Amino acid sequence: MSTSCKTVLASTVSASFREQIKKDIKERQIRPKLVGFLANEDPAAKKYAEWTSKTCAETGVEFELRKVDKQDLEEKITEANEEKEVNGIMVYYPVFGGKQDLYLQSCVSELKDVEGLCHKFVYNVYHNIRYLDEGETMKCIIPCTPLAIVKILEYIGVYNSVLPYGNRLYGRTITVVNRSEIVGRPLAAMLANDGAKVFSVDVNGIQLFTRGTGIRLQAHKVEDIDAKLEDVVPQSDVVITGVPTPKYKLPTSLLKDGVIAINFSSFANFEDDVKSRASIFVPSVGKVTVAMLERNLLRLHDYQNNVLEKKQN
Ligand code: NAD
Repeated sequence: MSTSCKTVLASTVSASFREQIKKDIKERQIRPKLVGFLANEDPAAKKYAEWTSKTCAETGVEFELRKVDKQDLEEKITEANEEKEVNGIMVYYPVFGGKQDLYLQSCVSELKDVEGLCHKFVYNVYHNIRYLDEGETMKCIIPCTPLAIVKILEYIGVYNSVLPYGNRLYGRTITVVNRSEIVGRPLAAMLANDGAKVFSVDVNGIQLFTRGTGIRLQAHKVEDIDAKLEDVVPQSDVVITGVPTPKYKLPTSLLKDGVIAINFSSFANFEDDVKSRASIFVPSVGKVTVAMLERNLLRLHDYQNNVLEKKQN
């Protein structure tokens, strides 16, 4: 039984990213602009928008919230795609829900898609394509919450920096309880692309994501497996939950001693005694998500202005 669990707060992980963004903006005397479209009546979306606005103001990003009728949203996105002073666009989903929202995600110009949800960025995550160009000067934009969770895992040390880039999760077993298109599925793919064995759990069953063997892409492979939560959680070094209901509680008794437990749901998905088993517990990730949103914005601002990165060797 774990005796000294450390709670890692999202505010702690996000602090260095926020400082870096603030410094960068100040030193370069730029003012990147993010436009958020609110087309639903969801109080959670409104709260997230207010929070984004406050965080952006603190780091020097200009944030403009545009409240629009959902029937006008596509046209408003198209207009914002054309506005030179707008560097990034985000939409508070769900708007219509389902396939119409998928369509709207692909209406955002690639060069302004801070959330990384357009088809090309999502495709690149699934195919382990990390750059937009042959010269490897433009990194792909990664969806904010999966990216936030990756950054938290790096902060904690789950990524082994002794191993080469692209294989730093080799030897780790990770369970992700959520397979949504926004968070759980891209997250499982990214973790597998970096070498982890990932059990992806949703209401319908469990899939195993592992690193592929393709010579060029090394993209992950996925197989349906006949297993239960009780089979996969006890094997896992890291357990990540994102079930959107207050009723869901992952039983502490299933957790391996010393596990790293991360919850990204807006509800507490672990039982109150999770710290009796976990070595590290991350109760929420939201502040890191917003930091990643700003980081993606800066990156797109630079791509729009032809400020490219040096090729990584
Ligand atoms: P979603 O409804 O699209 O997906 C929920 C997923 O959980 C699905 O894969 C579903 O099958 C799975 N699930 C539901 N009940 C389950 C059960 N009993 N056992 C196993 N799996 C189950 O939701 P979403 O958009 O992925 O959001 C999930 C949660 O994460 C919400 O609480 C949301 O507020 C939160 N969220 C947080 C952030 C952040 O940055 N903090 C970002 C996005 C979403």
